[in-house]
Amino acid sequence: MEWSWDRIPAEFVVTNVMLCRGGTLAKGRGFLHVRKGRIEALGAGSPSHEGIPVLDAGGMVCAPGLVDLSVHFREPGNEEKETVATGSRAAAAGGYTAVVTMPDTDPAVDNSGMVRYMIDRGREAGLCRIFPTGAISPGRRGEAMTEFGDMVAAGAVGFTDDLNPVANGNLLGNALKYAGMLGVPIITHPEDQTISGRGVMHGGYWATRLGLAGMSRAAEDAALFRDIELARAAKGHLHVAHVSTKGAVAIIRRAKDEGVRVTAAATPHHFSLDHARCRDWSPLFKTNPPLREADDLAAIAEGLADGTIDAIATDHAPHTATEKEFQFDQAPFGVVGLETALAVGITYLVRTGLLDLGQLVACLSERPARALNLPAGRLEEGAEADFVLIDPERPWTVAARAFRSRSANSPYLGETLTGRAVATFLRGRLTWRDEDGAGAS
Ligand SMILES: [Zn+2]
Repeated sequence: MEWSWDRIPAEFVVTNVMLCRGGTLAKGRGFLHVRKGRIEALGAGSPSHEGIPVLDAGGMVCAPGLVDLSVHFREPGNEEKETVATGSRAAAAGGYTAVVTMPDTDPAVDNSGMVRYMIDRGREAGLCRIFPTGAISPGRRGEAMTEFGDMVAAGAVGFTDDLNPVANGNLLGNALKYAGMLGVPIITHPEDQTISGRGVMHGGYWATRLGLAGMSRAAEDAALFRDIELARAAKGHLHVAHVSTKGAVAIIRRAKDEGVRVTAAATPHHFSLDHARCRDWSPLFKTNPPLREADDLAAIAEGLADGTIDAIATDHAPHTATEKEFQFDQAPFGVVGLETALAVGITYLVRTGLLDLGQLVACLSERPARALNLPAGRLEEGAEADFVLIDPERPWTVAARAFRSRSANSPYLGETLTGRAVATFLRGRLTWRDEDGAGAS
């Protein structure tokens, strides 16, 4: 039967793919058989499937749908930056089928009604699975604990006050204990704000040279050290949202060796860009944690390669163009990342030989799903048919107007990256197709 992109049938077979799962890229060509939203079968070769529509993927890589452990979708409260629908569109275009949302909306996701709201908005958009996190404290004020049990029952997959790191160690310790009992992690943005103070970029040569207040590595390392000791004492699960320093990689490596339940993610910008990029005062390079130095970037790549860092998470943080035109010290922190993460990984980790493609795909799908125990990121028989077809060789130039996100505050604007999601499927339904240059025809 004829394949038609306009009407994806309930049952179809994708042939001529390089299956990529379990951290390895298959040597030969294979197939994926989808039936009623699930993976019916997959494997090497191309068995005959009489009467079933066949999509010849032309040698594309077929990977599990990507899973992002940290996105800021801004709804409710700042819909001019992003909504759950526009964020889901960006996710699908980046090859993602599942994202974990941060609770720093306005109002914050700090009760079960808000958790359900996020899940419902995600279902309405229908492009991506939404796994919300809840705030640790009401209003993210760090004073008391929210109702963890209610929120987990409503679907929360973890708790975090993210950009308002919990300064009160007693509160965080209790949060780790309760979350642990509920089987979910506390997600930490490790930053001792008495150390980072009013810093706007990494405390190093360029901050001094530009006359900007710096955030030293010590702010991250000291806070992380405390958080890990609290997790050890509480026997809870600590997940580190975004590792940016070589010290943090070493601290996590040791804690894992000692059996502390800690998992971690790093963002694409933290392994690809260093603080020198701030030299022209562009706020597109203003992130928290800040872009660091070459040896930090190398330590993060090494941490991803040896499994110290479980996952790559984008920390997708949309801001309007106006805000990112403020002066560097006035502009908000954060960059968008959903539509560039895969290509940044291929360009900066795979093509440089730091990881192979199988490892990179695992860092973007199976490993993040496992770290937060999410029902996602599985390319296997019986699993829901969430998958992405990737052209790992395709060069493309990052352009603001091409973003599906409502915002375009990307540090890669104008850069030519390699590798692209050419088609994304959620439960066997097409959520994204790259019309120009899709190798799959
Ligand atoms: Zn953060």
